[in-house]
Amino acid sequence: MPKYIVITGGVMSGLGKGLLSASIGRLLKACGYTVALTKIDPYLNFDAGTMSPFEHGEVFVLRDGGEVDLDFGHYERFVDIDAKRSHNITTGIVFDKVIRNERKGNYLGKTIQLIPHVTDEIKRRIRDNSKGADISIIELGGTVGDIEGLVFLEAIRQLRGEGALINIHLTFLPVQGIDQKTKPTQHSFIEMRRAGLMPDIMVGRCKDKLRDSTKRKISMFCSVKPEEVISDHNLDNVYTLPLLLYEEQIHKIIQTKLKLDVREPDLGGWKQFTTMYGKGPKVKVGIVGKYARGDTYLSIQEALAHAGVESGVNPELIWIDSEVVEKNPSTLSEIDCMITPGGFGTRGCEGKIAAIRYVRENKIPWLGLCLGFQLAVVEFARNVVGLRGANSTEMSEETKDSVIIPHWEAGHNIMGGTMRLGDKKVVFRQGTEIQKIYGEDTVYERHRHRYGLNPRYVDKLTDAGLVFSSVCPEDGTVETLEIPDQYFIGVQFHPEFQSRPNAPHPLFVNMLEAVKNIGLNSIKDR
Ligand code: GLN
Repeated sequence: MPKYIVITGGVMSGLGKGLLSASIGRLLKACGYTVALTKIDPYLNFDAGTMSPFEHGEVFVLRDGGEVDLDFGHYERFVDIDAKRSHNITTGIVFDKVIRNERKGNYLGKTIQLIPHVTDEIKRRIRDNSKGADISIIELGGTVGDIEGLVFLEAIRQLRGEGALINIHLTFLPVQGIDQKTKPTQHSFIEMRRAGLMPDIMVGRCKDKLRDSTKRKISMFCSVKPEEVISDHNLDNVYTLPLLLYEEQIHKIIQTKLKLDVREPDLGGWKQFTTMYGKGPKVKVGIVGKYARGDTYLSIQEALAHAGVESGVNPELIWIDSEVVEKNPSTLSEIDCMITPGGFGTRGCEGKIAAIRYVRENKIPWLGLCLGFQLAVVEFARNVVGLRGANSTEMSEETKDSVIIPHWEAGHNIMGGTMRLGDKKVVFRQGTEIQKIYGEDTVYERHRHRYGLNPRYVDKLTDAGLVFSSVCPEDGTVETLEIPDQYFIGVQFHPEFQSRPNAPHPLFVNMLEAVKNIGLNSIKDR
């Protein structure tokens, strides 16, 4: 029977529950326990697939094609696991299942209620996700007191009766003058008790380290010992959070409370990674696109940081407005390399295309991801092949030269919905640059797209010098492109989702290596 750790949050959202859950996962894995992670999102959406990354942060894609909250990126990167779609539980998923059960007559004429039918379905899913793990970590999204979260808190309260379960409650401590204010935390604790749950460990998110006097105060009001109050203060580097939790000895409290055998973590490799993180000369990585919030391209940023540790440089993202580039592409002369990220819809595409032309012509290392691959095809068709009006059907239905078309029109045999999702096999052509970079002939990469290369244009583009360097043997999708003798690589997939601290992705590492070979702009300036 697994032991459960439920992580809840109070006072306000956006405190970093995902990072806390992932860091606890890392610490416990470093102690030698097997860990499973589940994220509950109490919204009514079925999954994150339809949610705007500009409002909610990036949509993370799992190997099995699950489109999930970006916290799964933290889980995979910190704990080094491959999560499954079923590890994300939403109100939409749970209600959908209960209503379908009811329609099938599975409830034998009973009245269907939040308790027990919905709570039973939630518990069943949590139990399933926890199978085979020593410790099952469940992060409840949102803030305690939210109406949406109530039924999940109730399910967790019931689960407590089934075995060892502890609750770690994360709250925010505002600072006024020199005081670390505990009142919101006290109220949040009361809210937890109202839901029938008693926090076992309190974690205080604060600008600076929690003072002993603050810990004592929380201890007194929240029925935990002072050492069971953990400081979660601002860090320069999120990857040091497991180390901070270790300093606070949270693993020992968890071991005692869950009656686990006592083990010390081995954090050697992790520590080494964190000391190298963000060190070395700056590399300016241009991203041309819509104005985005910090975590719209989170996995790209993390993949660059992991690669930076490997290459001994410190990549920094430089946002460049697509309209500015469209009018004046030479604004890009400042950057060392460029990434064109994935995206949907027409906005900003002409600027992105102008930017791709600039880096292609000036041999600035470039990596195009998904939409980036597609826009590179459009750019090359227009400016090298001479098909002036070439475009993707997604951007214009009118064009007579649709070089990028919906994959069902391209004759590819995609199973399921219209979106091609998750792991697909990619087989490289022998002797191509990308095959050398991977050092392998066949890989699996994660996908999330509806459009792809129009096979009718392959010959024209190839004759003009564009190299299509791989294909998916299962459905015929052309997966990657390159231009010889420069780092110009476009991929129809999302390598950023596979990058881990201890296993940076070769496409990002090799882009930084290409920058180093050319010589950094920022170094040249000095
Ligand atoms: N909008 C493009 C498509 O659907 C690209 C998607 C993406 O970049 N993830 O194919």
